[in-house]
Amino acid sequence: MLEKLIIIGAGPAGLSAAIYASREMFNPLVIGGLAAGGQLILTSLVENYPGFPDGIDGPDLIEKMLAQAKKFGSRFVYENATAVDLDSRPFKVSAGGKDYETEAIIIATGANAKWLGIESEKKFIGRGVSNCASCDGAFYKNKNVIVAGGGDTAMEDSVFLTRFANSVTIVHRRDAFRASKMMQDRALSNPKIKVIWNSAIEEVLGDKVVTGVKLKNLVTNEVTEMKIDGVFVAIGYHPNTDIFNGKLKLDELGYLVTKDEIYTDIDGVFVAGDVADHTFRQAATASGSGVKAALAARAYLQELEAKEKPK
Ligand SMILES: Cc1cc2nc3c(=O)[nH]c(=O)nc-3n(C[C@H](O)[C@H](O)[C@H](O)COP(=O)(O)OP(=O)(O)OC[C@H]3O[C@@H](n4cnc5c(N)ncnc54)[C@H](O)[C@@H]3O)c2cc1C
Repeated sequence: MLEKLIIIGAGPAGLSAAIYASREMFNPLVIGGLAAGGQLILTSLVENYPGFPDGIDGPDLIEKMLAQAKKFGSRFVYENATAVDLDSRPFKVSAGGKDYETEAIIIATGANAKWLGIESEKKFIGRGVSNCASCDGAFYKNKNVIVAGGGDTAMEDSVFLTRFANSVTIVHRRDAFRASKMMQDRALSNPKIKVIWNSAIEEVLGDKVVTGVKLKNLVTNEVTEMKIDGVFVAIGYHPNTDIFNGKLKLDELGYLVTKDEIYTDIDGVFVAGDVADHTFRQAATASGSGVKAALAARAYLQELEAKEKPK
């Protein structure tokens, strides 16, 4: 069966695109991936998504988006897309051992935050360990937090967190930051920020929530404990673009390169959300670009229909 529109990804971007596309009667097929729901599944309270003055749990927000998309006729396959053929039309998407053909595609495969990769970190994600300062910073009013990292994001997050926290300690593996000079200066001149150099977080400590960390000095191998209320991991993101490598333009960090946020070089292939956004990375911005991509796909499909109609 030839699909009109396939949406790859079922986070806020893909689901918002699905709501719009299905309400416009295109009944899209959403290939939502094995981790359907996306990054918001990992968080408890989302306080900055419009429409929820008391906040909403990440998984509940996703559940509502999913119900809204299904209500208007979106169909879902919970498999990872493993290959795409964008060279000929209709386009092809392979997932779960099947090949799907489609006239248009919206890519909304998001990004995964890089974590430290230590066992104790997993236990506390959403309960004191976060990788999103703008999402979770406000929970740390008058608390003491650590930021792990040494790039621009780590500097920006640290400065941002000083609005709420009493103290911010940047823990960095080396003896110099990778961040731009301007960002470093801004962080290092802030009286609430201090740095622990040449050190790595070896273990996150706590019972139900984070209460401290074990730090290892990578030069002396000395291990010390530090009391802390929160750990922000700011060591970068991995955009989920492996299957588009060589087929669409990627930037040096692996993000999809777009024109006007949602267009690719291939007519009929659109992009939404964090997979092309290393700046804002928010649920609401991802939803917004999902909506734009769905409306652009509608215009493309209508044009295609008009061209194919016998005169
Ligand atoms: C811990 C945490 C807390 C956060 N808190 C907030 C918050 O409070 N407020 C806020 O605004 N933002 C928050 N964010 C950021 C927000 O979650 C992201 O900006 C948003 O989810 C991006 O949406 P997206 O749809 O672009 O991508 P994602 O949410 O990453 O979703 C991508 C989707 O694509 C799917 N996928 C990936 N590869 C494939 C493939 N090959 N085939 C099929 N499907 C695939 C995935 O399974 C997933 O369904 C938080 C993020 C994290 C990690």
